[in-house]
Amino acid sequence: MGPSALLIALLASLAAGQGQVLRLDVAGEPGLASVTVDWNDRTIPFVRDGDGWFTLVGVDLDTSPGAHSAVVTLTGPDGRVRRIERRIDVTERQFPTTRLTVAPKFVALSAENEARAARERVEIDAVYARITPAALWTEPFVVPIPGATGGRNFGHRRVFNDQPRAPHAGADLAAATGTEIRAANRGRIVLAQELFFSGNAVFIDHGLGIVSVYLHLSEIRVAPGTLVERGQVIGLAGATGRVTGPHLHWGVRAQGARVDPFSLLP
Ligand SMILES: [Zn+2]
Repeated sequence: MGPSALLIALLASLAAGQGQVLRLDVAGEPGLASVTVDWNDRTIPFVRDGDGWFTLVGVDLDTSPGAHSAVVTLTGPDGRVRRIERRIDVTERQFPTTRLTVAPKFVALSAENEARAARERVEIDAVYARITPAALWTEPFVVPIPGATGGRNFGHRRVFNDQPRAPHAGADLAAATGTEIRAANRGRIVLAQELFFSGNAVFIDHGLGIVSVYLHLSEIRVAPGTLVERGQVIGLAGATGRVTGPHLHWGVRAQGARVDPFSLLP
């Protein structure tokens, strides 16, 4: 079987800004055994969607602007493999610098807190490294606070108490302590615990390497390992961890890439 014109047309022009999720589609190939894409040093599975296939890939906020290569591998029922290289044009976005003042213990860490934060980093990185080879959701993603139309600070370079730190990997949503926080979509709770920087935190694995995170909660209402539905209350907003006041930090990683959670919404 040769590559179909339709398939090539659908894969032809791919463009995304830094820190955005990109949907990839392969149409009209219901007979394939599997489809994957190599992107950002990861192999990401596609899943069936009607007669075709789709997946979501993350363009990390620090990806260099310009042309990048993604190789799509299509495996037929007979095991024959086709590879199609496609260009993803990454466009530059401007991320401002934000200066913040937080409790000194979050900037000059004690040896004990340093060790704790490092342990938690390893645990969190393991969650981001996993790619569940299925989409656990079927409906569009939603904002965790119904009616919220936007978030602040995604991608901002941050300076805490005059010391530069990693860019802000999520969106901050205004929320009073006690505001109900809802799952952005169906998925499995992979982490629900208090973390040094993030305070009370909930991480949801939606499959295909998409993980949504909800930080600084006053209360956690779910347990690790459970499946949650879209819109289910997973906790209450708060001001735990390294914060300047109550809000929801909503983050999304796509195969580990730091992406703006609002880029997941339809
Ligand atoms: Zn935040």
